[in-house]
Amino acid sequence: MSKVREIMETMEYGPAPESNAEVLAWLARTPAVGHWIDGAHVAQGPLSDVLNPATGAVLTTLHKAGPDQVEAAVQAARAAFPGWSALPGHARARHLYAIARAVQKRERFLSVLEAMDNGKTIRETRDIDIPLVARHFYHHAGWAELVETEFPGHAPVGVCGQIIPWNFPLLMLAWKVAPALAAGNTVVLKPADLTPLTAHALAEICVEVGLPPGVLNIVQGDGETGALVAGHPGVDKVAFTGSTEVGRTIRRQIAGSGKKLSLELGGKSPFIVFEDADLEAAVEGVVDAIWFNQGEVCCAGSRLLVQEGIAPRFYARLRERLETLRVGDPLDKCTDVGAVVSARQLQRIDGLIAQGQAEGGTLHRAAAQLPATGNFCAPGFFTDVAPASTVAQVEIFGPVAVAMTFRTPDEAVALANDTRYGLAASVWSENVTKAIDVAARVKAGVVWINATNIFDAGAAFGGMRESGFGREGGREGMGEYLVRRAEQGSERPAVTVSWDPAPVAQAVAQPASGGVDITARLWVGGKWARADGGQSASVRGADGAVLGQVAIGNRKDIRNAVEAAAKAGAWGGVTAHNRAQVLYFLAENLDQRRAEFAELLAASTGGDGAAEVEAAIRRLFWNAAQADKVDGTVRATKSAHVTLHINEPWGVMGVICPEEAPLLALVSLVAPALAMGNRVVCVPSQAHPLVAARFAQVCAVSDLPAGALNIVTGPRDALAKTLAEHDEVAALWYCGSAEGSAMVEAASAGNLKSTWVDRGRMRDWGAAQGADWLRRACQVKTLWLPYGA
Ligand code: NDP
Repeated sequence: MSKVREIMETMEYGPAPESNAEVLAWLARTPAVGHWIDGAHVAQGPLSDVLNPATGAVLTTLHKAGPDQVEAAVQAARAAFPGWSALPGHARARHLYAIARAVQKRERFLSVLEAMDNGKTIRETRDIDIPLVARHFYHHAGWAELVETEFPGHAPVGVCGQIIPWNFPLLMLAWKVAPALAAGNTVVLKPADLTPLTAHALAEICVEVGLPPGVLNIVQGDGETGALVAGHPGVDKVAFTGSTEVGRTIRRQIAGSGKKLSLELGGKSPFIVFEDADLEAAVEGVVDAIWFNQGEVCCAGSRLLVQEGIAPRFYARLRERLETLRVGDPLDKCTDVGAVVSARQLQRIDGLIAQGQAEGGTLHRAAAQLPATGNFCAPGFFTDVAPASTVAQVEIFGPVAVAMTFRTPDEAVALANDTRYGLAASVWSENVTKAIDVAARVKAGVVWINATNIFDAGAAFGGMRESGFGREGGREGMGEYLVRRAEQGSERPAVTVSWDPAPVAQAVAQPASGGVDITARLWVGGKWARADGGQSASVRGADGAVLGQVAIGNRKDIRNAVEAAAKAGAWGGVTAHNRAQVLYFLAENLDQRRAEFAELLAASTGGDGAAEVEAAIRRLFWNAAQADKVDGTVRATKSAHVTLHINEPWGVMGVICPEEAPLLALVSLVAPALAMGNRVVCVPSQAHPLVAARFAQVCAVSDLPAGALNIVTGPRDALAKTLAEHDEVAALWYCGSAEGSAMVEAASAGNLKSTWVDRGRMRDWGAAQGADWLRRACQVKTLWLPYGA
């Protein structure tokens, strides 16, 4: 008789299929999936088949929404908005709570439906996707209850157009819909056409639990339908998850429309393994990082960076682990890797794998027996790839990682950041000091230490760089669906400013105190710089007299200023206390020269110069006071995890000042950016640029490190465009015209920088400070630290 040990060694898993009877019955009742508009099912539009990726079988058919259906859905959402937003938070909370309960009651049904529609395994839908969906609705039921007290002075944005991808269909719906509804918005959501079924099932649930008609509308269709939703003038906010390419298209499409936008895009996330890591745990980490969900995960740990000394051992362990992964029927509870979502996606993955091999990579792949039909892809990983190779740079979005080695922590960080993305990272080391140091230096919105792919409704999730902007989950996620209740400023009058080069010896009206620079130069890298074009323009005061000349900066000057700002990275690393001290010192030095500034301001604008200087000094003090008070948070998420939310500066910020309030507006915009540790390239008021040049003199004696603030005078929108297009600039604040705002938003699509534009509306500069200013001057990094002895 065999010994138990022998049985254990040879034992094969038997099939353990989950029953799909309930889903088959539902599909039989649902021969065509249409749209949910104003609480009713609307079966209109051309039909296409919905396929099961694991078998190729037709599950049902899908209507595609065109302009008429999108119009009807937006109108329904608009009509429902006043009632829904006026409900007390508690009433909205009860609706969300009811949805959460109903999802929980149907967990098994929804898990099977998701697995059949997407190809992902039942193990994942049952243990991850659907429980997280319920958790999101519960968590946001809480926010609905608390929104009035937790976000005083805020209002819902209005109608939200939400577009989601196919990789986590119901979970992405929950991430988008739950916060939007909690905040009091109404929604038009478009699921991916490859995976429309769980959204349809959820709409049925919403009707059943009595969600008021029109609060959640679902339009089915492909990218064309998505574009109709995003572009509809009745939509106030667009929330998109998907590829960086489509995110960029949407950014350009809605530029200048005033719509609020959040983008959760692609990634090529590093998975860094140090030689002092728990290697067995790290191997399991790779399973969860890249082989989970067939690698169709935006934050997949798809670039394995392994410290050189352990690389051979680690790769060997990975190869062994690959052989134990079971690829096949998603409904089998023993399956680890299910089917890729579509034949087209499989083709794309295969194409990239072939390219990786052609570029010299060595492919290690599971020798898994793949089912004869369906879109199955054996998991694997590449070694011998160069950091610049296609597979090391492009999102494969399949179960294949690339592995590279590094020697030192610095090299690990350099390799980790050698990507245009910045969504997530995972760091493996038993030395927590080193792990946190690396986590702090990696450009990523989410960093897991000794863990990967952990999510929670209370934790912010979202990217840096070309992985998009905005956060989902937690307090930050709620903020994306709220706007500050503020008076709409009046339209800024157009000011004609001549940037024609001035004759060399133009008469200058010197104010009584003297001291106005004859030609103010640019302030770049802590030095006075001549403009690249070598030309200057005359600046006229309120009475038309020439006050002086100012350098005409051009794109080359902006590039030099950005380079100087990029080199001044140390400013972000000094303590918040040090930054506060510098801002206080700036305020003191401005105070010393208040009479001279008041005189120049009065001569420039004809306004009350003394009052403006006083307000600017106070603004510097206020921001200095805040520098060390904009704290991060520690959240209660999963058990045995510390989840930190750390405010990080953007890096290099562009700041375009308005014509009015030349000193106060400049200080109001620049001070929060500096307080949070950013380096700034500022284009000052083009009507009154001499004030900024004078302010640079104050900076020069206030211990502000060279390059932390750079001032480039010149034609506003031309300089703004260069800043918007510059890849090194991570965030851009623009005050100017409506056209300029549209231009800035469109031109910023290149590196998907975060923008804040005023659409040509004046601000009340007397009140231009607050927590939201400081929050906009940084981005949140979510750091997950599991613990346990
Ligand atoms: P897309 O970005 O094209 O799709 C995401 C969603 O946007 C879908 O609902 C899609 O509709 C819709 N959409 C497509 N074009 C537009 C448009 N112009 N305006 C508005 N909405 C639009 O991703 P794909 O499905 O094409 O996948 C391509 C690649 O993108 C993948 O291989 C992967 O690399 C990456 N990806 C990344 C995701 C992430 O979470 N970061 C998620 C999905 C994909 P429909 O699908 O119905 O056509």
